[in-house]
Amino acid sequence: MSENDDSKIIDADDKNDQKEEEHVCFLCHKPESETGPMVRLPNGMYVCSDCMQNSVNEMQKNMDLGSLFDKMPNVQFLNFNDLFGGAETRTREEKKKDKKAEPSFSMKTIPAPHILKRKLDQYVVGQDHAKKVLSVAVYNHYKRIIEEEKIERGEEDKKDRTDSMVEIEKSNVLMIGPTGCGKTYLVQTLARMLDVPLAITDATSLTEAGYIGDDIESVVSKLLAAAGNDVEKAEHGIIFIDEIDKIAKKKNMNQRDVSGEAVQQGMLKLLEGSEIEVPVGATSKNAMVPMKMVNTRNILFIVGGAFPGLEDIIKERLNKHSSIGFHADLRDKYDEEKNLIRNVTTEDLRKFGMIPEFLGRLPIICPLENLTEEMLVRILKEPKNAIIRQYEELLAMDEVKLTFEDGALEAIAGKAMERDIGARALRSIMEELMLDIMYEVPKDDNIGQVVITEEYVNRCGGPKIYLRGQTGPETGRIAQM
Ligand code: ADP
Repeated sequence: MSENDDSKIIDADDKNDQKEEEHVCFLCHKPESETGPMVRLPNGMYVCSDCMQNSVNEMQKNMDLGSLFDKMPNVQFLNFNDLFGGAETRTREEKKKDKKAEPSFSMKTIPAPHILKRKLDQYVVGQDHAKKVLSVAVYNHYKRIIEEEKIERGEEDKKDRTDSMVEIEKSNVLMIGPTGCGKTYLVQTLARMLDVPLAITDATSLTEAGYIGDDIESVVSKLLAAAGNDVEKAEHGIIFIDEIDKIAKKKNMNQRDVSGEAVQQGMLKLLEGSEIEVPVGATSKNAMVPMKMVNTRNILFIVGGAFPGLEDIIKERLNKHSSIGFHADLRDKYDEEKNLIRNVTTEDLRKFGMIPEFLGRLPIICPLENLTEEMLVRILKEPKNAIIRQYEELLAMDEVKLTFEDGALEAIAGKAMERDIGARALRSIMEELMLDIMYEVPKDDNIGQVVITEEYVNRCGGPKIYLRGQTGPETGRIAQM
């Protein structure tokens, strides 16, 4: 090996060492390659310019150093970004402040409920009642915020308005529906449409402060992160807490209930609206993490769950009610009724294990339907970003036309029904089904069209393959798996 080769190896080793030694910000955990140069603190810790500036801004705000330095004309508070090369690395917050302070919403940007629903229709199949309930809830929620902000900004005569104004209470939403029926998807679609930050979390991961797991306030720091650490934006966001039924009060509990009732209790203040101090860039509080105050009053909380067994509670109540008195009905009248969930009352939910104070803060109940096979077929093909459209698009990039026979779509939906996890099953079934097609088709430039047949879905035949310039299908190119 020549000396030259040796030096190349040493060079490469040096580079590797440098890579391994890349500093990571102690606060936001981002690497130096992403954040730009960092400040070295004692004990070998590094902090990026953004986090350093945020910490200084917080200090400045809390101590009102701004006014102190205003009185000393030649003293300027240190701007850490200047140390790192100036204007380009200013914090996001500062850049936002540069934009003229505008109201975060205007009536123009909060579409009327029927428009919201029409937009939801483009993505979410069925669930008409839930879409209506949500559209109205979201519209009213933001309308209330807009009005209050107008008064705060003095655009409306405070005295006139407050004298006559009925205070509109905060309306959080409880969604009830089986897994995979579109609860999360509805909320995600709404948040995207409204362009508000959204944090999704799972109630099972939440515990009372002091126990292992995320404490309840961590949901607010998730939202703050989703809002790019912009407090004002976060305060207009949506928090979706899934699997809320898992924190139902347990029956006959002798030990202390860590995960259930106590978590419901802990969430009361949050749902109602309170000032919460949350860590920025982390989910737990510690001395080194900068904190921000977030008011949850205008945050829309939507909680969702499958509530297994709730239908039996409803049925029992309805049967009891209808078998008493002159109008007594058959006892099993409701046994066959689908979507019994539509009849749910807070009393049923209380029986299920939700505490009254918690339910009191979720005045809007939004039941969702079970998805039928026919709805699953529609979910496959109708939404704007339907799964089969995505595959069609992928193959169109290879100039191959992909089509599905109706029987094939029904067979896919049938298989999904068997898995009993709602529309969630569709994607995995499609992934399995399309693997060979997506692997084989790009190999052969002659293939111009692929038709997915019912036989192929049921694994008793192959897809129809048409070669470019040929009218009849060719079989056997992609055999059944
Ligand atoms: P969950 O009700 O358990 O929260 P999700 O909303 O997460 O279920 O649904 C899982 C996936 O199934 C979604 O990402 C979406 O693609 C699809 N999906 C579920 N329901 C519908 C629906 N009604 N219309 C269109 N797609 C749906």
